[in-house]
Amino acid sequence: MASIIYLAKLGELTLKGSNKADFERRLVANIRRALVGAGASVRLQAGRLYVEADECASTAVEGALAHLVGITGWAKARACDKSLGAIREAVYGEALDAKESGARTFKIEARRADKGFPLDSYGIQREAPLLVCERNLLAVDVHRPDAVITVEVRDRAFVYRNAHKGCRGLPAGTGGKGLLLLSGGIDSPVAGYRMIRRGMRLDAAYFHAFPYTPDEAQRKVEDIAAVLARFGMSLRLHAVGFTAVQVRIKERAPEAYRTLLLRYCMIQAANLLAERTGAQCLVSGESLGQVASQTLENMTVTESAARFPLLRPLVGLDKEEIIETAKGIGTYGISILPYEDCCTLFSPKHPVLRARAGETRSLYEALDADALIAEACESCEAKRFPAQESRVALSGNVRVS
Ligand code: ATP
Ligand code: MG
Repeated sequence: MASIIYLAKLGELTLKGSNKADFERRLVANIRRALVGAGASVRLQAGRLYVEADECASTAVEGALAHLVGITGWAKARACDKSLGAIREAVYGEALDAKESGARTFKIEARRADKGFPLDSYGIQREAPLLVCERNLLAVDVHRPDAVITVEVRDRAFVYRNAHKGCRGLPAGTGGKGLLLLSGGIDSPVAGYRMIRRGMRLDAAYFHAFPYTPDEAQRKVEDIAAVLARFGMSLRLHAVGFTAVQVRIKERAPEAYRTLLLRYCMIQAANLLAERTGAQCLVSGESLGQVASQTLENMTVTESAARFPLLRPLVGLDKEEIIETAKGIGTYGISILPYEDCCTLFSPKHPVLRARAGETRSLYEALDADALIAEACESCEAKRFPAQESRVALSGNVRVS
């Protein structure tokens, strides 16, 4: 079986100073972890990550690179000797593939990292297309080419086209640990993804109201967790049964406060789970003004329950921006499956819009729910999702922005 090579360009970590090596080590460890069992070899050299594997592992490698946080782009390349003849052959091969995919014009982009190579990048651009032009395969168009073929001269020469965008950000595991409040909705998976892209490792807590919420609702959250785990290099999902807490809220709280108090109780539970799992912050998918529980006043109330920093990476984004990312990372299609979430149970017709922290605290105390919440956290189920592709088949679908 022929071996193939992929090149990936490093992202923000190249701006790091004396601790750059730590970020690089983490990036290499992450891609190795995502490719356990795929027989791939990985090295990082002079600002490029190289992944080599047998052709039969190409789907696994491409899936892993598409989910790898910390790279700005990646491509499958032809590696050849650093001779003009070999580069021209490789460019020709790439142009043949481009023609098969319908291209009629092309241009070369060249990068000479090895300054000992006799031609500079302009010279490479001029000379590399020779065979393609002599054989009239494709015409050169430097303004609007159908195909861009890149030549990079490094320890060897690499020729590729169709570079994919990478996830950018900082390698997962370099930015502390958070606990994501993960519902089956559209927003919280995107919030998790955004924090993973800042290097954060995540656990997630999902609150369900079984048997009022169906099993499918939990499976949906598990499928989302499996997607996030691929970006975040594993994720542990804590499924917390909150039925007793919700029933207590329904029995004892004014109707208008039900949703806000449910959020308040979720944060109380998240405090306990964060303490138990060593998370340093909580993460939610709230966005200012999106729904009644997310007015500035109500978000202030929710936050007052938190004993950890409560991060809200989507706070200034609108729904369309959030949906675009959700589609790109592959969670949107799962999130829109129509299973009822616990928040929609017992939800008030006219929720309070501008609650105050002191007043809400008193209502919370009247619930006498601390023991119920502690018990829910004690008996919750935890499930770990791995960095490798699991039962949700998504590899080709990632389109990060
Ligand atoms: P999402 O915001 O994920 O689309 P949603 O719109 O159903 O879900 P909101 O009412 O906007 O939820 O809730 C705000 C935030 O509260 C969510 O983004 C999430 O972080 C948290 N949250 C809501 N419901 C749950 C739940 N059942 N389990 C865990 N966290 C939840
Ligand atoms: Mg929401």
